[in-house]
Amino acid sequence: MPQVATVGSNASKIDYSIGGTVYPVPQDVKGSKVVYQNADGMRVDDGRYQNFKSDLKNELAIPEERIITDAVKTYAYGTDASFYRLLPQMVVKIHSEEEVKKILPYAKKHQTPVTFRAAGTSLSGQAVSDSVLLKLSHVGKNFRDYTVHEDGRKITLEPGLILGEVNRILQAHKKKGGHAVQYKMGPDPSSIDSCMVGGVVANNSSGMCCGVKQNTYHTLEDMRIVFVDGTVLDTADPASRESFLRTHQDLCAKVSNLAKKVQADADLTALIKKKFAIKCTTGYSINALVDNDANDPIEIIKRLMIGSEGTLGFVSRATYNTVVDHPHKASCFIMFKDVDDACKAAAVLRRETTVDAVEIFDKASLRQCEKHEKIMSLVPTIPEAGKYGAALLIECRGPTDAELDQNIKAVTTSLDNANLNFLHPREETYPFSKDPAVYGTYWDVRKGLIPMVGGGREAGTSVLIEDVACEVDSLAPMTKDLMAMFEKHGYDDASCMGHALEGNLHLVFSQGFRTEKEVETYAAMMQEMCEIVAVKYKGSLKAEHGTGRNVAPFVEMEWGTKAYEIMWELKEMFDPDYVLNPGVILNRDPDVHQKFLKPKPVADPIVDMCMECGFCESNCPSRDVSLTPRQRITVYREISRLQAIENRSTEDQARLDEFLDIFSYAGDSTCAADGMCEVKCPVGINTGTLVKSIRARELEQAKNVSSVAASLGRNFASFTGVVPPFLNMVSGFHSILGDGVLKTVSGGLNKISGNLIPEWNPHMPRGAPKLPEPNHAKEKHPGVERKVVYLPSCVTRMMGPSKADANLEGVADAMMSILSKADYEVVYPKGLSDQCCGMLFNSRGFKDTALTKAAQMEEALLEASENGKYPIVVDTSPCLAEIKGSLQNPALRFSLYEPAEFIANHLLDKLEFNKVKKHVAIHVPCSSKKLGVEQTFTKLAEKCAEEVTGSGIPCCGMAGDRGMRYPELTGGSLKYLDLPKGCTDGYSTSRTCEMSLTNHSDISFKGLVYLVDEATTAKKKASA
Ligand SMILES: Cc1cc2nc3c(=O)[nH]c(=O)nc-3n(C[C@H](O)[C@H](O)[C@H](O)COP(=O)(O)OP(=O)(O)OC[C@H]3O[C@@H](n4cnc5c(N)ncnc54)[C@H](O)[C@@H]3O)c2cc1C
Ligand code: SF4
Ligand code: SF4
Repeated sequence: MPQVATVGSNASKIDYSIGGTVYPVPQDVKGSKVVYQNADGMRVDDGRYQNFKSDLKNELAIPEERIITDAVKTYAYGTDASFYRLLPQMVVKIHSEEEVKKILPYAKKHQTPVTFRAAGTSLSGQAVSDSVLLKLSHVGKNFRDYTVHEDGRKITLEPGLILGEVNRILQAHKKKGGHAVQYKMGPDPSSIDSCMVGGVVANNSSGMCCGVKQNTYHTLEDMRIVFVDGTVLDTADPASRESFLRTHQDLCAKVSNLAKKVQADADLTALIKKKFAIKCTTGYSINALVDNDANDPIEIIKRLMIGSEGTLGFVSRATYNTVVDHPHKASCFIMFKDVDDACKAAAVLRRETTVDAVEIFDKASLRQCEKHEKIMSLVPTIPEAGKYGAALLIECRGPTDAELDQNIKAVTTSLDNANLNFLHPREETYPFSKDPAVYGTYWDVRKGLIPMVGGGREAGTSVLIEDVACEVDSLAPMTKDLMAMFEKHGYDDASCMGHALEGNLHLVFSQGFRTEKEVETYAAMMQEMCEIVAVKYKGSLKAEHGTGRNVAPFVEMEWGTKAYEIMWELKEMFDPDYVLNPGVILNRDPDVHQKFLKPKPVADPIVDMCMECGFCESNCPSRDVSLTPRQRITVYREISRLQAIENRSTEDQARLDEFLDIFSYAGDSTCAADGMCEVKCPVGINTGTLVKSIRARELEQAKNVSSVAASLGRNFASFTGVVPPFLNMVSGFHSILGDGVLKTVSGGLNKISGNLIPEWNPHMPRGAPKLPEPNHAKEKHPGVERKVVYLPSCVTRMMGPSKADANLEGVADAMMSILSKADYEVVYPKGLSDQCCGMLFNSRGFKDTALTKAAQMEEALLEASENGKYPIVVDTSPCLAEIKGSLQNPALRFSLYEPAEFIANHLLDKLEFNKVKKHVAIHVPCSSKKLGVEQTFTKLAEKCAEEVTGSGIPCCGMAGDRGMRYPELTGGSLKYLDLPKGCTDGYSTSRTCEMSLTNHSDISFKGLVYLVDEATTAKKKASA
């Protein structure tokens, strides 16, 4: 038997510091048989986890590779965006509702509680567990199905879809169907591009515009739920409802009776209504008990699930009523003399208008704005704000421009009649703007505030985001009380910002958990904050982010004992054995919020500012295979902590060895170093840079390998010269031996060589044909000279089309053909056969050789372009990005183009385009995405084909040849590839990426220049 924490008469004996997680112990909750004392961390494995694991493998046929128990990965998954860490005994990657349905009864049987994990962006500690984590993201196409209904006014979703992705699906649906109205999802958390539907439902997340009316509680129509006993209820299916009512009579009766009891209690009903009139995610959504007919338990259950943080059941499908996304928008940024005036303005707007969003910035937030050049040029009066000065960012929307004007008028009239103290005259100094560049800047700054605080904090601390709300009329005094509280406790960087229209403030500050004193300061501040918000202002301790472990000890303070006990009763009804995420939302440990705090050891300046928010994860090609960027950083932090210990104990040394060993493959070898993580990182961290620096450090110790690289760099022309005949030879073997033999032999060699020898696939290119002679312009044209430097990368100089595209010439031939039609004079850089951008060396950590090659290349490009006078087109996007990244001479800064960009900028007026294909796929390489070329690329393809579908893959994971040496990397990333039927051809601008996309789809991917060449003719001269 596990050790059991005892309570009741022995309550004083509980030692929470050593833990006892969720074992059944008698409690004094009325009517309850058994509940769990949660004080995480004392989970003793008495064999139950082994038994659970063997049942998963043997009874449920879950493959071993999906059951993670090693020290490094369980540590990595112990991290979510909150400041808590719990180490799971086991992480199971789940693939379907069917699996959840089967797993839950086994979890119940073995008493091994489970926590569901979607994107892990939760901030309150609800997505971590010291038991079993059931991970539903990072599994390719699983949990990502959807159906858009009608014109988009309704959508059915599986829980692994990212919320922002759903909005893009709705946009595509409108475009394709030619519908009149654009719909979007109601919930709009600022984590929208990372969080998943499962988490959004389970946290009842909301954001800047959704208020209390467009959150999941109010916009969800139906749901499929898996209960702890494995029963599935589909609320959209009458047969399922009927069956559930029959098989779960007892549960349904209890739910109905509880609703009747609450509805009969006028005070309680009034309290619930009052509390949910503002944003509230503290405790369960007990408004479900008053908003529905007590005799309709299914409707009540459906709503109770919302915001239940995975403690009552698993949501396997959700049907939402979407909301209208008005196309016409305008915003203004108004400075007020005092936060009182700003809050009063928010209250007036809420009462009198239908304004769409009102965001507040306190003085500390405005100080952050001062670092932002663009907003300072738009609102230069920002620094004039006094200690209690504040600003409001206001947005109006409308279906037409005229209606937008009406809405703006209503807002300005209300503001001007409210007797407010603006810092300067409102109309002249702070006007509304319909210019996307202007209002885009305002909103970029608002969205960037949390990262700005996070990015400016001391290394070794965490950024904390508290999330409170009160009635708008109380916002001003509450804000001032909270500001005074922060001052008292020494939180100098604390900023108060948020959704003023909803009375919702985010309190953002840095916090160390390095010493007892720091933890005590945090605990004292937290106690005071709860008293100010919940007691003094009767507000919500969590407006949007969910209760989690963070405010679980304060639910009773906020709700009062009667409502609190009802919440415990609900938990008992749905999950009497406390198998589902116990300790979250409700927790009897009064100190749970200050336990298992996550340290943030200083590791490397490249990643020290990481907030572990997880926004980067969905962009990472290795997320299914090894580690995500966040996990790489987390594990690296632990390695750094262990390395920093002088005189390590044997235990610490063994742990360090194990971490280093596993990190070598999971952290280092399988990082594509493409930097797509940086694109989504609010504080701009490129984990690939960290990995490249680790590789470089390792190579410094292996001098002989570096000298081989240097020699290869010096003799690059010989190397590029032998590759094409070698590839032709391999292609010849392919013709003779067929797929099977080459695959087996190269797979074997790949393993024997420790992933040094690339694994062959049937779409490997043949050797590239000889480069074509450069064009000479046929005539002299008026205006800008038609001359270009063309750099065929070493990849296109070596790799030609695959065996299946035998009819095609090389990429350079297609490019030359296009340039010839546009009558361009073409210049190749000098010494081309010896040139390389350096990426080949840089991505492997050979920094010195990479720098030497980059410098040589730059010199050749400067000469060929006459110091940047002529444009330079590089036919391979990753090479262009590398060149731009290592550029020393500013003369070339604006001369370098990747193919789509060059064609769009220089050739559109010189070529006639025809749509030569019906439906094509495009994959914009990660490097082009980072250069901001995605739209240009798409528009160009749309000139050549009737329909164009993007691959939807952030990065294919090829990373030069890494994807051939670690084929699981591209395999994992391209599991997400979901091209529609009817797509005949695929196009990209990186030969190696094209090869891997072809290998993982039914479509042959090749260079975009082939499509443009096929679709264009020289533009006829206008007749005189
Ligand atoms: C920088 C930052 C900004 C944020 N801004 C906002 C904001 O503006 N508004 C806001 O509301 N939130 C915000 N959040 C919090 C968070 O992003 C949201 O709550 C988000 O919806 C969580 O989704 P997720 O996919 O990450 O879920 P997870 O964190 O993985 O899980 C959330 C909870 O849902 C449970 N769960 C997951 N899937 C299921 C399922 N299928 N069935 C049942 N339970 C499930 C989990 O067990 C957990 O309790 C922010 C977070 C960060 C880091
Ligand atoms: S690297 Fe950036 S995006 Fe990723 S977890 Fe850290 S802060 Fe968040
Ligand atoms: S560089 Fe690429 S592979 Fe490496 S962590 Fe970042 S996104 Fe993942």
